[in-house]
Amino acid sequence: MPYTRKPDPVDAIVVGLGATGGTAAKVLSEAGMKVVGFDRGPWLRAQDHYSGDELKFINRNYLWPDPKLFPRTLRHDEDSVAEVFPFSPTPQLVGGGTNHWAGWVPRPRESDFIQRSLHGDLDGANLADWPIRYEHLEPYLTKVEWEFGVSGIAGADKYEPFRSKGYPSQPLRPTRFGKRFYDACNKLGINGFPIPHAMVTNRHKGRDPFNTTSFWNQYGDPSTARSNTLTTFIPEAVATGNFELRPESFVREIKVGKDGRATGVVYIDPDGNEVQQDAEVVILSLGAIESARLMLMSKSPQFPDGLGNSSGQVGKNATFHEYLFAVGLFDQEIDDPLYGWTGNYISGGSFEFYETDESRGHIGGSLISASQTCHPINMVFPGRPTWGEGMKDADRNYFSFAMKIGLILHDMPVESNRVDLDPTVKDAWGLPVARITHKPHPNDVAMGKWQVDKNAEILQAAGARKTIPVYLQRMTGNTCHQHGTARMGTDPAKTVLNEWCQSHDVDNLFVVDGACFPTSTGVNPTLAMMANAWRCSEYIAEVYAKGREEHLKVG
Ligand SMILES: Cc1cc2nc3c(=O)[nH]c(=O)nc-3n(C[C@H](O)[C@H](O)[C@H](O)COP(=O)(O)OP(=O)(O)OC[C@H]3O[C@@H](n4cnc5c(N)ncnc54)[C@H](O)[C@@H]3O)c2cc1C
Repeated sequence: MPYTRKPDPVDAIVVGLGATGGTAAKVLSEAGMKVVGFDRGPWLRAQDHYSGDELKFINRNYLWPDPKLFPRTLRHDEDSVAEVFPFSPTPQLVGGGTNHWAGWVPRPRESDFIQRSLHGDLDGANLADWPIRYEHLEPYLTKVEWEFGVSGIAGADKYEPFRSKGYPSQPLRPTRFGKRFYDACNKLGINGFPIPHAMVTNRHKGRDPFNTTSFWNQYGDPSTARSNTLTTFIPEAVATGNFELRPESFVREIKVGKDGRATGVVYIDPDGNEVQQDAEVVILSLGAIESARLMLMSKSPQFPDGLGNSSGQVGKNATFHEYLFAVGLFDQEIDDPLYGWTGNYISGGSFEFYETDESRGHIGGSLISASQTCHPINMVFPGRPTWGEGMKDADRNYFSFAMKIGLILHDMPVESNRVDLDPTVKDAWGLPVARITHKPHPNDVAMGKWQVDKNAEILQAAGARKTIPVYLQRMTGNTCHQHGTARMGTDPAKTVLNEWCQSHDVDNLFVVDGACFPTSTGVNPTLAMMANAWRCSEYIAEVYAKGREEHLKVG
């Protein structure tokens, strides 16, 4: 097919410049490789484009994907027709999900890497060990924490595994609802601690400390105190002179040569032209849903079922972190206001309930955390009237007198929970959209119920007069934590990638986002994703690019 332009080939292409693609761009370009990075969204600048305007950012989708251009569909079982639904939407622009993330960056636990060894075959689930262990990731967790200026206190989380270095910044000051949480934890003998945040509290690499408002969460931080790849890794990659960023460039296919190796990508440039860019290595970091979709769309005679999909596993075992919580309502007559808009969105957290205790009736567990109930226009208060006097009363009575204790649901992998190509719905380019099929495993439902009830108990100990539980019914994709659609592992028949996130089928194709996670963990995943992207990019630059192959020993 003739293309409008065919620029010179480069060493590496990175598709998607969010958390993991931004990391890959930095590591590869700093190692001296010539890299071109594509993002389908624009390249905004934090100081020029971001602010605390709740309507613009949340209700009018300034950073969120336009559902008309980028629809997705969702069905809850195999036999239903999927409906268009904004499942797990992430910002579509340079910086990706880190543009408006809250920025909590807890570390995964040692047990997250060995779920199958610990629990065997969980009926109806597809548990797997990772081909790496915590100790393989630890040096890279530290690198990201120090590059991002993460704030926290080493040792405050008494369940934290080994760390080779403390935190570069002091923790954020506790919020009023954070203090309530800590008091309740003390009463109940629970280890509460300030959740580490990608926010600088000391001057760090030219950025000033955080200004203690919660209005940047979900919005985009104009002060740049909250670390994201847009204001850290991307400019560092550009500064090497080895990285060229092509925004508003939608990659629609990965091309392969006759030998079955990737030759490059085809993308649609900002003027609507189709362009082919060739490279030695193609690295995918579109987020687990879109990376699987792009692989499935990239069909060729060698890969009629999608690129790197000889195992038939691309898209399967998709896991997501539904965010469940209990809301606590306090009494205006007795309690001081909690002032949810001051300080950070999230405050204290605990790993007290993270490891398996089978007496609870489920395996696994999750990080819990105290937060405000979002901002005035979009206050989260289940059952709150949505208009008229009732709504105004609820806001007056509760906006400053409510808090949540939430949990990151450790979703169990199930093979039939997956991403595939929707047979009928197309995006703005006429390409099939990602269809998500997800039915919670019974363990997810039991884990959610137990932990929401426990969170309500903690809220009561914090002084809440009333608690409202929100249990798991079905997966709505209300977080943007996506994993598992191209699992890494040692067996090419059961997994898509090896331990370096390299396709078993196509040796110059790497997928470095959460798609590679064999299990979802019960923590916010982005620190681990970025650390893993760093680890794999280092491998690409230092080993693979030199023509060598090395494998990890997992003892
Ligand atoms: C409101 C919110 C709060 C969050 N808070 C936290 C938090 O506190 N802690 C945490 O750990 N995680 C948090 N997350 C999740 C975090 O943002 C994601 O885990 C992370 O961004 C995933 O990184 P990624 O590199 O896989 O994908 P992304 O960061 O989503 O980047 C993917 C990029 O690929 C681009 N892209 C997609 N398709 C194409 C294509 N075909 N061609 C070209 N480019 C393409 C997109 O435009 C996007 O920029 C939050 C997310 C949201 C939305």
